[in-house]
Amino acid sequence: MRFAAALMMMVLAMPAQALELSGVFMQGGLVIGHAGPGARVSLDGEAVAVAADGAFVIGFGRDAKDKAVLTVTETDGRTESRTLDIAKQDYDIQRIDGLPARKVTPRPEDVARIKADNAKIGTVRATMTAEPRFVTGFAWPVKGPLSGVFGSQRILNGTPKNPHNGVDVAAPEGTPIRAPAAGVVALVHDDMFYTGKTMMIDHGLGLTSVYAHMASISVIEGQVVEQGQTIGAVGQTGRATGAHLHWGMTWKSTHLDPRLAAGEM
Ligand SMILES: [Zn+2]
Repeated sequence: MRFAAALMMMVLAMPAQALELSGVFMQGGLVIGHAGPGARVSLDGEAVAVAADGAFVIGFGRDAKDKAVLTVTETDGRTESRTLDIAKQDYDIQRIDGLPARKVTPRPEDVARIKADNAKIGTVRATMTAEPRFVTGFAWPVKGPLSGVFGSQRILNGTPKNPHNGVDVAAPEGTPIRAPAAGVVALVHDDMFYTGKTMMIDHGLGLTSVYAHMASISVIEGQVVEQGQTIGAVGQTGRATGAHLHWGMTWKSTHLDPRLAAGEM
């Protein structure tokens, strides 16, 4: 009887489902988590969306602090807090001075177009859909030499420009681009000012990805794509020097490093 009671206490003390986290705990890193169904999750006190089955995703920005606190409250009230150590990345900062002003600032007639493009991209990033299509993790959409890395920044005539918020993979024009994970095509645009033919995938729970400078796009908005499905081809549309894919990933408004999500090429 005493043994049975002790066993019962052990069973009660055991988590219904252990919290699982997989990913890279580094600035720009993406982490996929699984808690129990119905769990509530927060990161540094801010609520994180959780799918019906307990899957969730979190990410750490380019300049994330060295610690983050993840708190999970299961439906039975049990709460687990984990302090996550976030490793630093070293970013390439390039200062270029003495440039003619017109090379640094877009022409007034282009500014309205750039704003409209950014608004469309921002709307997709602000959308929260419930299906956790990211759970497979991410694969490289194109393989090739990296011609641009996440987080690098140029300071032109003393003015810091936005850090590079994705990776650039050099590949011949026409190389097929494959969806790195399943999702819903959330944006198809034929000609954005900077990024040319541009498309976005919504992977669920605020995680989106963007593909820029494409030669062609072979999917339509609202279409569900599976991991590995061809979504278009590499090009150099928009402001690009040479054929490459710019691939970006964003969790809500936090840009992540796709290289950390996809791993070794
Ligand atoms: Zn790029």
